[in-house]
Amino acid sequence: MASSVQPKATPPRVETDPSTTRGERFDAWGYEDTNFALENDLVTLKGSRYELSGKILPGLMTWASSIIGQPLHLREEFIHKQMTPIAPPKIASEFLDGLTQHHISWTQDDTARRRHGHGHALEEVYAIRLGRMHRAPDAVTYPENEAQVVRLVQLAQQHRIVLVPYGGGTNVSHALMCPESEPRAIVSMDMRRMNQILELDETNRMAHIQAGAVGQDLQTELEARGYTLGHEPDSIEFSTLGGWIATRSSGMKKNRYGNIEDLVLDVRMVTAKGVIEGRAMPRESMGIDPRHIALGSEGNFGVITSAKVKIFPLPEVRRFDSVLFHDFESGLAFMQDLSRVPPYPASARLLDNFQFQFGQALKPESHGWKHLKSQLERRVVTGPLGFEPDKMCAFTLLYEGSREEVALQTARVAKLAKKHRGFRAGGENGKRGYQLTFSIAYIRDFMMQLGIMAESFETSVAWSDLAKMCVAVRERILAEHKRLNIPGNPIISWRVTQVYHSGAAVYFYLAILGTGLKQPAETFSILEHAARETILEHGGSISHHHGVGKLRAQFVPQVKSAVGLNWIEGAKQQLDPENIFGIANQGLERKNQV
Ligand SMILES: Cc1cc2nc3c(=O)[nH]c(=O)nc-3n(C[C@H](O)[C@H](O)[C@H](O)COP(=O)(O)OP(=O)(O)OC[C@H]3O[C@@H](n4cnc5c(N)ncnc54)[C@H](O)[C@@H]3O)c2cc1C
Repeated sequence: MASSVQPKATPPRVETDPSTTRGERFDAWGYEDTNFALENDLVTLKGSRYELSGKILPGLMTWASSIIGQPLHLREEFIHKQMTPIAPPKIASEFLDGLTQHHISWTQDDTARRRHGHGHALEEVYAIRLGRMHRAPDAVTYPENEAQVVRLVQLAQQHRIVLVPYGGGTNVSHALMCPESEPRAIVSMDMRRMNQILELDETNRMAHIQAGAVGQDLQTELEARGYTLGHEPDSIEFSTLGGWIATRSSGMKKNRYGNIEDLVLDVRMVTAKGVIEGRAMPRESMGIDPRHIALGSEGNFGVITSAKVKIFPLPEVRRFDSVLFHDFESGLAFMQDLSRVPPYPASARLLDNFQFQFGQALKPESHGWKHLKSQLERRVVTGPLGFEPDKMCAFTLLYEGSREEVALQTARVAKLAKKHRGFRAGGENGKRGYQLTFSIAYIRDFMMQLGIMAESFETSVAWSDLAKMCVAVRERILAEHKRLNIPGNPIISWRVTQVYHSGAAVYFYLAILGTGLKQPAETFSILEHAARETILEHGGSISHHHGVGKLRAQFVPQVKSAVGLNWIEGAKQQLDPENIFGIANQGLERKNQV
């Protein structure tokens, strides 16, 4: 049983949470100064941070209403008024005293506790805004170095505390959701004070970086020194190096730089049994590598404190491009051809017709020459070029490299686009597509105020199964939507975002109207679960990069052999016999909990 609250614990050393310092919102995704707002039926992105900021989006509401099949307006019952209250913390004061004694900062402030108990999956955000948050950590700590992390683990062992490593809290897998049935106190370890580049080795092109470094800070600092890590997940503004490793993250430029597992040369992880460490080698044949347990560990095995990663000189040239295709099938055939041989563009994304239309609906008001130009382009494309607005698809590209490399990438795209009857729509449209990435992340929480429950989920799949899988997912969603008697029309759409030799990653976007439903977020989850079943039945993976967490844990036995699962459980038992890292992701609930 958890000890009761002991008022005599000495006060925390530091109280400011890095999320506050960074200007992060506590009730939705993103920065405090940015949100979509509806005024006089017109949507605007407030703030000045992004390309779209401050611009009126005249077409968005009309388009969204027509798609969902119901008039849309702000709905009182979906407007967030106050944060969900959380239960008071229960934790032994001796543990908190121990932290203070060892100069480890901690807090029991409700805002910090709530923030550290959720990621950004729909159900979690709905819970903190409109529902009930099941459980929050009992305290939040802020270690500043590896010695403090080791000390924290020792204190947790001594006082029977569960520790949960926290990066940027951006996961979309319920990975930070505290297990309701856990009887012990739960303490979050916010790693963001461990955010230094410890060493930059220009000769060997690698950097030793602390795990709590936030992506965009890292990017700025490396760029100032003429380098890039090349890892750019869409959550780069908030997610951390440690979080990327623990979730096996993938960035939009993976074609050029690789996924996180390709970039990490060495990793240090503090476990309940000590530190797993190694050396950064160009490549090594040393039998099974214990450090690999850090990749995809999702807080189950220990705390990643730092990693040595590859770095690359900044590219000489960076250029955007876009191609329109008559239909999804032609775009996909183009993409498959593109994946066959290098040179690959750093990023290549195929958007289905719905997402193409969505992009158009997100176009700000334009006047003068800009307006005229876009009208002319539209007429040419849908007129003499024969593109059908309800079928056409868009492909956005980003080239990076030396002048010669980019010239080769561009020439290859031009040749293949011609082969698949694509229309080169220019760099500006491509650039706009990528710029939208960061502002679009805010739209899900805005839509919630209109009663729309929306979320993306992803998978990877072989080329041969891709199109069939997408169609099957759509059919399943339509059937489930009907079965559950959900109002309006469901939205199910997809984009293909990362290419591989044998297949690609697919992002699905799902939205339903939640008005009149007793449990809108839970209903949404039923649909998402159904979609995942269909994905697995049609050859897709449990996840390409979001990971498993608790959201997809029930599918794990379908994708791992019984022997493999036993082996993972054995590793957990050996490394963490007292289940200090008891966040219970991937179904790793301990059967023999002490
Ligand atoms: C708008 C948006 C866009 C996104 N885009 C992408 C994308 O393009 N690509 C992608 O891969 N993902 C994306 N994600 C998902 C998410 O950003 C990634 O999963 C990311 O890697 C999580 O990092 P984090 O630092 O926020 O980790 P957190 O959310 O804090 O933690 C995730 C898990 O990792 C564990 N963990 C965190 N830090 C450590 C550590 N130091 N040691 C041990 N365990 C640790 C936690 O315990 C938890 O189990 C997106 C999410 C959102 C909301």
